[in-house]
Amino acid sequence: MPAPLTPSKTPVVVLGAGLTGLSAALHLRDLAVEHRLLEKLPHPGGHAITVEDSGFRFDRTGHLLHLRDPEMRARVLGWLGEDVVEVERNSVIWSNGVYTAYPFQANTFGLPPEVAYECVMGFLRAHYAPPGAEPKNFEEFCLTHFGEGISRHFMIPYNSRLWGVHPREITSAWCQRFVPLPKLEDVIAGAVGASERKLGYNTHFVYPRLGIGELPLAMAREHGRVELSRSPRSIDPSRRLVTLDDEVVQFDALISSAPLPSLLASFTELPPPVAEAASKLRCTHLYYLDVALDAPCAQPVHWIYVPEEKYPFYRVGCYSHFSAAMAPPGKAGLYVELTDRQEPDLTRLVPEVAAALTEMGLVSAPSALLFARLRRIDFAYVIFDHDYFAALDVIRPFLERSRVISAGRYGAWNYSSMEDALIFGREAAATARALLDQS
Ligand SMILES: Cc1cc2nc3c(=O)[nH]c(=O)nc-3n(C[C@H](O)[C@H](O)[C@H](O)COP(=O)(O)OP(=O)(O)OC[C@H]3O[C@@H](n4cnc5c(N)ncnc54)[C@H](O)[C@@H]3O)c2cc1C
Repeated sequence: MPAPLTPSKTPVVVLGAGLTGLSAALHLRDLAVEHRLLEKLPHPGGHAITVEDSGFRFDRTGHLLHLRDPEMRARVLGWLGEDVVEVERNSVIWSNGVYTAYPFQANTFGLPPEVAYECVMGFLRAHYAPPGAEPKNFEEFCLTHFGEGISRHFMIPYNSRLWGVHPREITSAWCQRFVPLPKLEDVIAGAVGASERKLGYNTHFVYPRLGIGELPLAMAREHGRVELSRSPRSIDPSRRLVTLDDEVVQFDALISSAPLPSLLASFTELPPPVAEAASKLRCTHLYYLDVALDAPCAQPVHWIYVPEEKYPFYRVGCYSHFSAAMAPPGKAGLYVELTDRQEPDLTRLVPEVAAALTEMGLVSAPSALLFARLRRIDFAYVIFDHDYFAALDVIRPFLERSRVISAGRYGAWNYSSMEDALIFGREAAATARALLDQS
């Protein structure tokens, strides 16, 4: 006979000790709201973790903090103390056998002249075209704002490789914030090598000296009561019960940062339209390599965008250029984000990657690779496809009625940053507080 489940009660249950859940819990503490914070894995951090391997430190690909909210910035620096570096972005694009500055659209100087010409002329045609219908998908957004050449040489191939689906399948709704739009003068200046202004939302970043995982670890220490390796077997939304292996917890409000489809799958009941909407939610997984080099990385950049199909990866970054403490002296650690969504055969892939890194001048010879570990991210990029908004319009009111606040990049099902996660946590705590005040 299974042991009986112990009944308990708490005003707020928080699921997930990634940045959203940790922030929610710390803000609940500040609001004097009693709560429990449950994390499925044996460690906090979610996507923002750092693993140590043979003296090298690897995050889950590049995780740089862009801090725009003054209160969040102060909090983050308070949690991390002195052990941070502040860095100005140095990212480049590798295409046509040369490096050019990021973003591509405002830095075509240095490309083969016929490519730069196609990009600039395409931009001018798009810029002076009479206004047409609003772009409906990301491909149309690129053609409308960047023109044919920039779309063909960078925007479409790079984004197809990053998202794992063609930009035609993605609505244009998410683009405005994250895709830097150049002005005419930027494109012209960038074509003649006179570009000075750095574009985009991420020109400066903060990084913990020992890797991004230091942030959730500091937050978990500050909270002091994260319950690790603990996650619900099921959630009863109408009776507001979370069933764990040994306990049934009654809650007044639930904050979840678990991926939305997983959260809904753990519900004991779902109205059929909500189940139907949940089946429409799409997200890509991805594979990447942690790569250790026997020598420093020879290109002095933080990360490199690689749009061309002939390479097996679309982005490479160097952790040791974020912070020297990420690798033993005289060595370097890289992340290599793979295009293929199938599990690769490493005996074929690693020599191909080593040859490409040599061609790109990151290492002097393939033998500089000490080891390469394959990693997978199950939930990487939420796909903003044409069902996206309709599905969330059905799911959100149901969650609200159930007093479930599904927050964070995968909880709210969006494209957002770590700072956003911290802010979502703050907002979720305030919403939970308001729900308790109403009852
Ligand atoms: C490839 C990649 C690169 C990125 N680069 C950057 C970057 O450079 N800068 C930036 O700002 N952002 C970046 N991000 C985004 C950033 O990782 C996320 O915004 C942030 O980490 C999301 O935090 P979260 O707490 O919402 O979710 P998560 O980190 O996913 O945390 C959710 C937590 O919930 C736990 N959990 C899941 N299910 C349950 C359950 N049933 N019960 C209990 N616990 C559960 C998980 O184990 C996890 O710990 C990147 C993301 C990816 C995928």
